[in-house]
Amino acid sequence: MGEKITLVGGGLAGSLLSIYLAKRGYDVHLYERRQDMRDGKYEGGRSINLALSLRGITALERVGLDRDVLNISIPMAGRMMHDAKGNTAYQPYGKEGQNIYSVSRSQLNVRLLQLADKYPNITMYFNHKCVEADLKTNETVFQNQAGELVKDKADVVIATDGAFSAIRQAMMHQPRFSYSQTYENYGYKELEIVPDANGKFQLDENCLHIWPRKSFMMIALPNPGGNFTCTLFMPFDGNPGIDQLKTAEEITAFFNEYFADAMPLMPNLIEDYQNNPTGMLVTVRCYPWAKNKVALLGDAAHAVVPFYGQGMNCSFEDCLVLDDLIGAGRPNLPWNEILHQYQEKRKPNADAIANLALQNFVEMRDLVGSPEFLHRKKIEHALSTQYPDKFTSQYERTTFSTRDYAEAWEFGGKNDKILDAIIQNGWESKLEDSSFINELLDEMLS
Ligand SMILES: Cc1cc2nc3c(=O)[nH]c(=O)nc-3n(C[C@H](O)[C@H](O)[C@H](O)COP(=O)(O)OP(=O)(O)OC[C@H]3O[C@@H](n4cnc5c(N)ncnc54)[C@H](O)[C@@H]3O)c2cc1C
Repeated sequence: MGEKITLVGGGLAGSLLSIYLAKRGYDVHLYERRQDMRDGKYEGGRSINLALSLRGITALERVGLDRDVLNISIPMAGRMMHDAKGNTAYQPYGKEGQNIYSVSRSQLNVRLLQLADKYPNITMYFNHKCVEADLKTNETVFQNQAGELVKDKADVVIATDGAFSAIRQAMMHQPRFSYSQTYENYGYKELEIVPDANGKFQLDENCLHIWPRKSFMMIALPNPGGNFTCTLFMPFDGNPGIDQLKTAEEITAFFNEYFADAMPLMPNLIEDYQNNPTGMLVTVRCYPWAKNKVALLGDAAHAVVPFYGQGMNCSFEDCLVLDDLIGAGRPNLPWNEILHQYQEKRKPNADAIANLALQNFVEMRDLVGSPEFLHRKKIEHALSTQYPDKFTSQYERTTFSTRDYAEAWEFGGKNDKILDAIIQNGWESKLEDSSFINELLDEMLS
């Protein structure tokens, strides 16, 4: 068998990466802190979904899982805004046929683990929590369910153990390791819109629903069972704060005031609100991601806030890029060189998606409800559909493209200037005038 690679963390990125590495013939050892998800007890019975988009689909394609995963997903072509009076406004995400896909986190992870299980050169260990790592010797120590310590030594170690990575903790003791962790003053609660009596969706299932309320917001993504998983994002310290709503009366009064159209569709609201944990939102930035033959990947390297729906997509893309570099470089290049190339390629993109995600939070909770914003989006949509060779919106660059996130960040600023120019000069009536618009785009995008 080939060299031994230990992966710490069998979540989304770890399980996908294990398959890539197994396909290349490595002896892969995948350690996961939690129990085996395939036993169906994950998420405490709640369904939590994620938006999968082109980058993630492309990464799944390489292991032949894209079709299978799309079959258990629901396409969302745009966002549906709900105002406080219950009026709705629809905004497509991109061009005709461009969708993001709502998929269950646990079902996706299970599909990946099921596929990984088919490779004889992948060994999986559940209920094994990494407690120590030696970055010089590639030795890791895991605590199993019985409390025993199990040692592992590999040729290469990749940390896919998420936002609170144990391997990253070990890296923090290294000289010149930069690290920042920033929490938003926002928490989130997962709630549910149930199906109707016939098991059907009670809202349009091909949209991501948003209830923007300036300093807070709720979103809802569809599940194949006819229900929607809703997420309420609200400040911890606010009036009211997310943890200050405690009694059934307080929760009911709040939802009646701000989410009156959704409230009747949420019969388990009080129970869900009181029993479901309050999640936290963190951005983690660090560098370097690689030390000797140990590297960070996915959320372990770059946790981002969830407002662009790209954390998993970006983590899957990390796997793809690393796999390409291994394919192109091994065995001629040493591992530290491969891992160095990987971090150089991905770090600017991870920083870009972290920035994009923070920016999109303001857009989703605060701006999407305003008529000025909707007007701006209409112009943007017109430009991207009528002038597709020249103008691509930032959302399309981020979500419907596999070009660098850093490019989406850079072009976002240029796009903003174009939209400002059109609105400020009242050029909306000239959108059909192709020679005028082409000239404007050439000038402002150059
Ligand atoms: C509310 C919310 C909504 C989101 N929505 C989206 C979305 O719509 N689209 C999107 O693309 N992304 C979304 N994300 C981001 C996405 O969840 C993450 O980016 C993605 O899960 C990262 O994958 P990962 O494998 O790096 O980490 P994880 O999926 O967190 O996996 C890490 C794994 O490591 C294990 N582990 C942790 N510590 C140890 C240890 N010491 N030893 C062994 N194992 C360990 C964990 O149990 C876990 O299984 C969202 C995130 C949140 C919080």
